[in-house]
Amino acid sequence: MQTRKSAKELAIRFSGAAPKVDEFGLHAEDCACVRCEAGYRPSAMQRDAAKRSAAAAAAAGAAGARKAAKLAEAREKIDADVDFTRRRLAELHAAHAAADADPRSKLFHELRAKGVSLPDALAEVDRQFPSDEGADDV
Ligand SMILES: [Zn+2]
Repeated sequence: MQTRKSAKELAIRFSGAAPKVDEFGLHAEDCACVRCEAGYRPSAMQRDAAKRSAAAAAAAGAAGARKAAKLAEAREKIDADVDFTRRRLAELHAAHAAADADPRSKLFHELRAKGVSLPDALAEVDRQFPSDEGADDV
């Protein structure tokens, strides 16, 4: 408890000491500022509350960091998947364009779409586009 101090004693104490703050932002146990010397030191309850609050903030910060790392990882994976899909689509578009550019392939697909049987469609393609090097030469 605070003991009575003489005016002279108080005047000496009041002359200088700046507040000394602890790690939780409260006036430290050994703070010698005017306020603390006048008996208004933080209570044990206030110190406990400040400690709990700091611990809760640290836990929330750690959880937030874990969540951010997880999100960054997921974003990276999604970006990689998107890149892969874009490349694959470009390849398929190129293959489709190449197939459309081949008159034998175009005719074959037209015949098949009309319901012509596979052997008849192949025979018709060979009839219209005779090839002595073989039909696989696309
Ligand atoms: Zn103080």
